[in-house]
Amino acid sequence: MSGTLTAWLARARLGAALFAPATRGQPLKITAIVTERCHLRCAFCRLWEQPVDGASSPEWRAFFAANPFLRWVNLSGGELFAKESGAALRELLLGIVESLPRLELLDFPTAGQRPDEVVAAVDALLSSRLPQLAVTVSLDGGPTLHDELRGVAGAFERAFDCFAQLRRKRSARLVVVAGCTLTDRAEEQAESLAAELARRLPDFDRRELHFNLAHHSSHYYRNAGFAGLPGQSALDVLGRWPKPSGPLGFLERHYARLAPRALRDGHPPIGCEALRRTVFVGPDLDVHPCTIWEQPLGNARDFGLSLERLLTAVPARVARATIAKRACPGCFSPCEALPALAARPFATAFART
Ligand code: SF4
Ligand code: SF4
Repeated sequence: MSGTLTAWLARARLGAALFAPATRGQPLKITAIVTERCHLRCAFCRLWEQPVDGASSPEWRAFFAANPFLRWVNLSGGELFAKESGAALRELLLGIVESLPRLELLDFPTAGQRPDEVVAAVDALLSSRLPQLAVTVSLDGGPTLHDELRGVAGAFERAFDCFAQLRRKRSARLVVVAGCTLTDRAEEQAESLAAELARRLPDFDRRELHFNLAHHSSHYYRNAGFAGLPGQSALDVLGRWPKPSGPLGFLERHYARLAPRALRDGHPPIGCEALRRTVFVGPDLDVHPCTIWEQPLGNARDFGLSLERLLTAVPARVARATIAKRACPGCFSPCEALPALAARPFATAFART
């Protein structure tokens, strides 16, 4: 089967699965923090101060094998490429793909500080049965601003090298974007980054930039003291930036359209899929509803690594009810909001701003 057909069929299957009624205890999407180790020292994140190494790679493989219903895996950190190097990390990634027969999409962000290892991992994944791979290379501004926000000299150059190498490999099965986490310096971030990428890459298209909003999270970023959260300038950037075409463009257009209401209300306008279609698993296999709400629901080790057993236990049931009542902290983080928008396309299209 051609790569294009493989990718389109996977998108269709994932879209249908998101649209179908959720199966109790069997989320479609997982955000898994495989390590908190990182090469960078970002201003809006404090994981790097005391990173948790995370469960061993064999234990992560066993965890995924115990939850074969997962169809969308977001591997995050920390930095994936700070957990293992070279062959060991490729073995972990391929092991995850092998463990999940229904996997349609694997995605991960990378700070891009080990460009050759990232490229080798992408090559290995593309030679596996994985239908779709999406890689976000974090770039938060032009070189000076990026290095300032990310706290390490030379970080931009390495991340750019990674982005430039990966985008030459783009295909129907591989999506590569530059991911910019907007802070209170959103305008400067977006414009300095777009100008630098356009100067270096003759075929650069502004739609290759994707934006995230910096949030507070005590377990995902440990950044309660961060004072530079994004404001109106970030909403302006989100609203005016050109969007890609296709399903991702639909989601990004409506995410940008609904972001002002979400920030005003403090909650996602069309509801949240945490603990229904999505779940967050921390580095030591502690399970929480999402990236934003630190609400320990149990450790997967105490449930035989089974998410289904853990998510049908009392703490998860109570947390689901809390989310339904909008009594969680609330957020509009794209990691959490985009699956919710995808699961309710009609409500998304017609939701008031
Ligand atoms: S935000 Fe990401 S890249 Fe930056 S220090 Fe935290 S884990 Fe590392
Ligand atoms: S709305 Fe609440 S439960 Fe949903 S992702 Fe945000 S903080 Fe988590």
